[in-house]
Amino acid sequence: SNFVSAAGFDQHTGNKDFAKKVAIVEDKIALTYDQLNKKIGQYTALLHSKYGLQKGDRLLSRTSKSVETLALYLATLRLGAVYVPLNPGYTDQETSHFDAEPKILITLNIESDRHFQEKLPYVVDEFNLQYEASNFTPELENECVSGDDVASMVYTSGTTGLPKGAMITHSGLASNAEALVDCWRFSQDDVLLHTLPFYHIHGMFVSLNCTFFSRSTAIFRPKFDVEDVMYWLPKSTVFMGVPTFYSRLLKSDKISFMNLKNIRLFVSGSAPLSMALWDEFYKQTGHKILERYGMSETLIITSNPYEEHLRKPGSVGVPVPGCQVRISDNGIIECKSTSLFKGYWKLPEKTKKEFTEDGFFVTGDVGKFDEDGQLYILGRDKDMIISGGLNIYPKQIEDVLDSMDSVKESAVIGVPHPDFGEVGIAICVPNNFATDKEILATNVLREAKQKLSNYKVPKKVIIAENLPRNSMGKVQKKELREEYKNLFQ
Ligand code: ATP
Ligand code: MG
Repeated sequence: SNFVSAAGFDQHTGNKDFAKKVAIVEDKIALTYDQLNKKIGQYTALLHSKYGLQKGDRLLSRTSKSVETLALYLATLRLGAVYVPLNPGYTDQETSHFDAEPKILITLNIESDRHFQEKLPYVVDEFNLQYEASNFTPELENECVSGDDVASMVYTSGTTGLPKGAMITHSGLASNAEALVDCWRFSQDDVLLHTLPFYHIHGMFVSLNCTFFSRSTAIFRPKFDVEDVMYWLPKSTVFMGVPTFYSRLLKSDKISFMNLKNIRLFVSGSAPLSMALWDEFYKQTGHKILERYGMSETLIITSNPYEEHLRKPGSVGVPVPGCQVRISDNGIIECKSTSLFKGYWKLPEKTKKEFTEDGFFVTGDVGKFDEDGQLYILGRDKDMIISGGLNIYPKQIEDVLDSMDSVKESAVIGVPHPDFGEVGIAICVPNNFATDKEILATNVLREAKQKLSNYKVPKKVIIAENLPRNSMGKVQKKELREEYKNLFQ
């Protein structure tokens, strides 16, 4: 039940019907399943014999996005060890609370990570590792693990607090991959354009697993870049991204004239896709983006239907196979599934608190089902604003603001207020910066008053150049709350 076998890589790969199929394209290099399998095998041999990496050990990877990193990841799992990816862009301070106690750290920046040498048995430069691996004879046998063994530990994005290490199991990965291949109708003929970071579940598991489990092909790009995407899109059949990818694509006027006939599916997730953006993308390209919902702890739990006419903008769809979703009395989305994580690393108490007695994971997202059983996310529990005793869901206000002609995107947050305890304010990015900020803000406020009941109208509208987002396109409301905390005090 090693996930790596389920993904198509083991000692039999060379004899399988997909052995000669291209698994991954990186610039001018294309690796077949058999070739990728051997590359994974070389890393396996190296990690095993030189660094003594064993079942249960953690390998911390702060590496560039490349086929080498991909092979390193699958080699770690092949050995039954735990792959722990880290955003290579994080500063020292941002990584100080990452407590995975790895046996080995692979880094793209050996200079700045040298101090880890005091604490860890091995700290290795990614290029050195690559060179070393290339000299090894591939080890193609996958270590025997139980489905319940941890395959990877992924830190959550830290949107609501410090990132937590979510321990994801071999069977969790495999069962979610099978569900998604089914939901999104992946076949051997697909070509996935992969531009997501490779240290988060979206880029590592949600997207790439569909490729491997359908024995199809992924075009692996180092990062999202509009021009680069424009070049590769016509050669692809599926694209997955965070909402900001889609808004950046729309900014390029070429997209509406591009031949996108080859693309059968655009998927969005990791952050809310506004209805305004969904509409605009549909208008310009004729494609209805399929939105889905998940998190590090659960992998994907809901997806819009594959049938285009059943996709609903604003909704994140219905539970995927193997997953039950319900809404608790206080409105919070809870789920139970075959791909639930095993717990937060070193946080047993926190883990216990996030599960109900009957084994459902409490997501912390507020949601509701419509009459067709489609789920809508109303925001995060922690973002809810209680103003003068009334609950305000920022998402609802943001939807209204985003639909205004003058507004490109918005974030509504609660800030302390002497009378109301807390009030909502809106930070809006305009579509056009030519208009005076004061006038823009006044107009937005006027329109908001027409469309929202009084208590929901933001107490102040602030016009900003952009919203602070992390690399997964998530608005960093923590930062905004900090910035504006003294607005009314
Ligand atoms: P932390 O748990 O550290 O505060 P995080 O929750 O942002 O950070 P992730 O596990 O990366 O960390 O993200 C999961 C969250 O992303 C979900 O709980 C949800 O709030 C949000 N999310 C994912 N997909 C969608 C979507 N389609 N629409 C709205 N929100 C989404
Ligand atoms: Mg979370």
